[in-house]
Amino acid sequence: MFKGLPVSPGVVIGRVMTIDADELRVIRRPIGASAVKEELKRLERAIATAISDIEEVYKQAKAQMGKQTADIFQFHIQMLKDATLLKGIRGRVERDLVSADTAAHEELGALAAKFRSMNNSVFATKVNDIDDLSRRLHKHLVGEQVTRLKAADDNTVVVAKDLTPSQTVGFDRSRIIGFVTDLGGLTSHTAIIAKALEIPAVVGAQTLLKHALDGQTIIVDGDTGAVVLNPTEQTLEQYRRTIEQRRTYRVSLGEIANLPSVTLDGVKINIVGNIELPAEIEKVLKMGGEGVGLYRTEYLYLTRPDEPSEEDHYKAYKQCVDLAAGRELVIRTMDLGADKMTQSREEVPERNPFLGNRSIRYCLRNVPMFKRQLRAILRASAHGPIKIMFPLVSTLLELRQAKFILHDVMEDLTEEGVKFDKNIPVGMMVEVPSAALLADTFAREVNFFSIGTNDLIQYTLAVDRINERVAHLYQATNPAVIKLIRDVARAGRHRDIPVSCCGEAAGDPEYAMLLLGLGLRTLSVSSTVIPQLKRFVRSVTIPQCELVARKVLSLDSDVQISALLRDSARKIVPEAYSGRSAE
Ligand code: PEP
Ligand code: MG
Repeated sequence: MFKGLPVSPGVVIGRVMTIDADELRVIRRPIGASAVKEELKRLERAIATAISDIEEVYKQAKAQMGKQTADIFQFHIQMLKDATLLKGIRGRVERDLVSADTAAHEELGALAAKFRSMNNSVFATKVNDIDDLSRRLHKHLVGEQVTRLKAADDNTVVVAKDLTPSQTVGFDRSRIIGFVTDLGGLTSHTAIIAKALEIPAVVGAQTLLKHALDGQTIIVDGDTGAVVLNPTEQTLEQYRRTIEQRRTYRVSLGEIANLPSVTLDGVKINIVGNIELPAEIEKVLKMGGEGVGLYRTEYLYLTRPDEPSEEDHYKAYKQCVDLAAGRELVIRTMDLGADKMTQSREEVPERNPFLGNRSIRYCLRNVPMFKRQLRAILRASAHGPIKIMFPLVSTLLELRQAKFILHDVMEDLTEEGVKFDKNIPVGMMVEVPSAALLADTFAREVNFFSIGTNDLIQYTLAVDRINERVAHLYQATNPAVIKLIRDVARAGRHRDIPVSCCGEAAGDPEYAMLLLGLGLRTLSVSSTVIPQLKRFVRSVTIPQCELVARKVLSLDSDVQISALLRDSARKIVPEAYSGRSAE
């Protein structure tokens, strides 16, 4: 039994497939005895491919550099055919029960260490050769993982050290039914994607990969964070019942989708969806959402290897406009950087990517790229209502620069005679404490605010949102975070601009009650949580929420605040809890 952070709800029972997220990083991967034969076959295939690759390299090298120099590659080939070495690698697979890549890495590593210890220059060069060979074999063996993933059996649960958002987006939902990672925090983007794809997931399980073997039965409980390897028949039975109960509960929630989202005392609350891909709008509407409060456009970049053109952007935004059909549609300009990209693409990765060149900062330093996106958004705005939102604004100058570039693009389009919405509303995310503290000033220069609690919590409390080691410190109920939200809501009221919340916390009914009490009237959340949020909204009154908010503001610890929210919610809407406990 392992315990991680539940990031995407649902319970699944499946079979383990371990994968190495970073194709070139070597991890020790134990296997079950039944997998030995397959691993040895994999090893043979990889060696054969490596030999034919090196023969190619040898031919080229011989033509370009002469036989003598090219002979190094003959040495590589000889090594790959060396009976003692091969026996050593096979022995490790059979004896130590580790994967072929682990065995090859360890055997070649041991050989390199032996040569290194001889302290002799001839042998020292051999060490490089062995490293080269080791990398080559590893590439062939681990490169196969991508293929393995594509050929995954039905009911596969991926177990990995870590997964990137783009890897997760690529999962085939018909066969991959859940995943667990050892690393990761509650609001990491991988977690957000899991929710969007409705893949039950647990992150931050810490040591699962060390214990999981391919093919083992595994239970993933995305509601509680529990992960059970090799469950007993009794546990399996218990979880099968849970799965059935959840199904019934979801059907009853589904009926709520078409009911209006108003509180018991008749106040309209806009529940809109967060999306990563245009097609998700259909799901948002089906679940009872009334539009899109946050489109994370950076996924246009994360789901492909090359940079999207203006037309690619335009197609995506036009599709959104069509699907939203006149409803609210907030397109956020790309929020690249930190965990959303591409640190691997950077030649020199940043030391502190979350405090680095990300998001609006990245856009302001890559103006042609930024302009391509703005042009496409504006062109799409000719076909239906769109609001533009800038992410991670931390200074007034940044906001002004972004708006300046937007106006520049508008001028270009006007000159070219291209149609767009000249009054397009422009808003910003409030997700950095500096922006929250100066909300009153910012409010004079934008048409709306959207509070991004995912980042606001991380930057207010100095807690990395994707680091499982500090996950216990990452608390939306910290009074400092709540005071910032209160001030932003006040600034919005004072300057008469709408304020919404689009962080994950908005989807938690207890927290939503607090947000309503602080004056927010729009909540933008993952589509999966819309029904239960709407049911909650329909069961409370605004004065009840305001009373809760007042009490919360008088408390000074997250533990007290969480307890108060839980107790109040249970008192006000007991039926929501009886429903949830049936999950
Ligand atoms: C946020 O920070 O709360 C937010 C909604 O943006 P993202 O999760 O994409 O950083
Ligand atoms: Mg953010």
